[in-house]
Formats: sequence, structure tokens, C-alpha cells
Amino acid sequence: MQDLNSQYQGPIITRKQAKELGLKYYFTGKPCNRGHTSQRLCTNRSCLDCSRLWPKSNPEKWDASQKKYKKTNAEKIKKYRKSHYEKNKEHCSAWGRKYYEKHRLQINIKHKEWKKKNKASVKACTHNRRATKRNAGGKHTKTDIENLISLQNHKCNNCSCCLHKSNYHVDHIIPLSRGGSNGKENLQILCPHCNLCKGDKLPTEWERIRYSVSLTAQFNFTRLSQ
Ligand SMILES: [Zn+2]
Ligand SMILES: [Zn+2]
Repeated sequence: MQDLNSQYQGPIITRKQAKELGLKYYFTGKPCNRGHTSQRLCTNRSCLDCSRLWPKSNPEKWDASQKKYKKTNAEKIKKYRKSHYEKNKEHCSAWGRKYYEKHRLQINIKHKEWKKKNKASVKACTHNRRATKRNAGGKHTKTDIENLISLQNHKCNNCSCCLHKSNYHVDHIIPLSRGGSNGKENLQILCPHCNLCKGDKLPTEWERIRYSVSLTAQFNFTRLSQ
């Protein structure tokens, strides 16, 4: 077996002494059951090399335990990451840029997949960003969009056609460009066709156009049937 910490030679410090000094690890110089002469964790005596090698020899178990830990400690992890970032802004940004350059392709593929699966989040994000640019008030979340879809029984608010899983547009009833808010009270879900027809018209303007279109259609129908 690979010996990761074989270079470690001390100093020797007992578990009790390390604990008294507030250290995380202690080192007795004696090998573990698997033969690693490595540092041990003060809390449970586990060998540092064993714990480093375990994920590699048990990838599935490791993934499962990581998922479980992340799920039960989500808040704690979020807080830690935030405070770590605040304390090491420059280092973190540089690391992030380096990481992105190295894994650009995989990151972009994963991001695309995530966007496909999380349409409501993407739409909410895009709207909120656009609203901030325009200094429009109000904000909404992906849950607001999902609630609105189920409130409209998964149907377009204009033509009542069925909205398929991701094929819908979130419309600002009063467009942002005309001073509308970005809050959930100014939203409706439309099918792509209706939303593109509506564009940045006010509800009254759109109503007028729809009325004249329906009149023309009625007129043509009467003429044809005569
Ligand atoms: Zn070991
Ligand atoms: Zn429609």
C-alpha cells in the first residue's frame, strides 16, 4: 500500500500532551495496523495516512459519506466557506481563476447540465440581474416562479395552452423597461409564443392588439363563409 506520510519523523508527542497544547494531531512513532508510521488524530486516534487512503480504496462509500455530511452540515459549511472567503479574498479569487482555467471544459459542461435542470433558478437569476441594472424594485426566487406555474395549472396565462416542463417564459406584466417591478406580484407565466407577441407592451396595449387581431380573424371568417 502507498505510504503517504512516510516522510513524517516527528517530533514525538503523546496524545495527552498534544491535547493539552490544543493540537489536532499527535505522533508516537509507532506504526498503525496497516504499517503507516504517521500522525494520529487526537479525537479518535485514527491514522492520517489511513484516512487519506480510505477514500481512494472505497470511492463509493466515500462519496456517500461526503453527501451525507454535506446534507446534515449544509449551514455550517456555508458559514465556514463565507468566513474563509472573507478572510482570504485574494487567495480564493486567484485559486478560483486557476481552477477554472484548468477545468474550463468540465465546468462548462456541468454548468450547462445544471442550467437545463434548473430553468426556474436561471430565469429568476437573469431577471434579478436585469432588474438591478435597470434599478427596478422587487426580487423573486425560483420558488416564486414554481408557485406561479402551479397556480396557473401549468397553463399559459394568455392562451391557456399547456406549458411543458421547461418551455415557458416568465413575463413582467408591466415590463421592466416601462417602469414595472421585478417582484412576484408583477409576474405571469406565458408560453414562448404569447410572450414574444407581448414583447414590452403594457397590458392595455397588448389587449388592444389582441382585440384587433380577433376582429380581423372574425371578419375574414365571415367573408369566407359567405
Ligand atoms: Zn494507517
Ligand atoms: Zn400562450
